[in-house]
Amino acid sequence: MNSINAFRVPSFACRHCGAVVTQLFADLGMTPLCQTQISPQHFDKPERYFPLQAYVCTQCWLVQLRDCISSTDVFTDDYPYFSSYSPSWVQHAKSYVDQMVRQLSLSAASLVVELASNDGYLLQYFSPHGVSVLGVEPSRSVAEAAQRKGIRTEICFFGQNTARHLRERYGIADLVVGNNVLAHVPDINDFLAGVKEMLKPNGTVTFEFPHLLNLIRLNQFDTIYHEHFSYLSLHAVNSLFRTAGLELYDVQELSTHGGSLRVFGQHAGGVCRIRPAVNELIEKERVTGMLDIAVYANFAEQARASKRDILSFLIDARRRGKRVAGYGAPGKGNTLLNFCGIGVDLMDFTVDANPVKQHTFTPGSRIPIFPPEHIRAMKPDYVFILPWNLKEEIMLQTAYIRDWGGQWVTPIPRPQVWDKVASSSQGR
Ligand SMILES: [Zn+2]
Repeated sequence: MNSINAFRVPSFACRHCGAVVTQLFADLGMTPLCQTQISPQHFDKPERYFPLQAYVCTQCWLVQLRDCISSTDVFTDDYPYFSSYSPSWVQHAKSYVDQMVRQLSLSAASLVVELASNDGYLLQYFSPHGVSVLGVEPSRSVAEAAQRKGIRTEICFFGQNTARHLRERYGIADLVVGNNVLAHVPDINDFLAGVKEMLKPNGTVTFEFPHLLNLIRLNQFDTIYHEHFSYLSLHAVNSLFRTAGLELYDVQELSTHGGSLRVFGQHAGGVCRIRPAVNELIEKERVTGMLDIAVYANFAEQARASKRDILSFLIDARRRGKRVAGYGAPGKGNTLLNFCGIGVDLMDFTVDANPVKQHTFTPGSRIPIFPPEHIRAMKPDYVFILPWNLKEEIMLQTAYIRDWGGQWVTPIPRPQVWDKVASSSQGR
């Protein structure tokens, strides 16, 4: 039994179906918001910590955080995540655009709307095809970066009311895209009702989101953070779509973000034939226990076991006199560092390609963030890759660490040491 249940039995209404939710999925303790940075001027100031606990609704199987912060706390005007800093993610976006232009025969008469369009990393690839685009992005800093590139972007949160306003102003869309946004939306029913409003009668909506199946199977507890209100199985997304008057007609499994799904949807009863992949994947989820409460109940202990393994590795490295540097300061890295209690006692510093994060400190753990060149200067024995979903890209960029015998470490699903670029490994 989890200790937090010793004093209270938490229950709240499921953010999708309204059923009473009591089943704990993961308890990652108290953590600060993971997309904040601590500037040197604020180093000796206090920080706000929030409980980080995920629960599962045993009616619709939506894994979700209890509401304890609002999205305006998170997606502030200076939200520091610029999608364009990840070359592999930008390439992924370009391939998607080429595929959708072909598949939906998009032309100069078409409108594509992207929800959480960030700095225009994806919409930019529609312009060579002459397709009109509209980005919707609540964070001013990244939205303005898109506008500077000439990508039409509305700075607002998306939901049914916003959709009605946008629809009046710009018309309805042939394609609505949302990559890694569904999880970020507190009122997910209202968000999908907005999608329904924005979609032409024969329009398509696609969403990409990390697949809960992989979160559980590959022990990706660090993808749980306050910015992610929901953790999605296809089963749950199917239920969300139905409630909004939409239906899924296809699904693809992708390798991005540790294993994601790309779903294709339309208005309920729309023209596209429902592909067998949809029911096959729903069945796969059932067979792997995604409708079994025990699988969810066991995950909290799985995360704690992972914490012990990561700490054992780092403590052992320190005892052997090894120097450990981090690579990256992503949201998931901050969950991992704070949940495991890793500070400069176990990790000397980390680096990040995003200039906004450089020369600041990670929230909570207060590890200094340098530009990537700092690794070359300091020659650490281990480079601990916090955004493990980008490990191949990061290993290639830092291949020079082999010159002094440096090795990489990935923490998930278990700590693993790599001495060649993502091809061979020596487990620990
Ligand atoms: Zn529910």
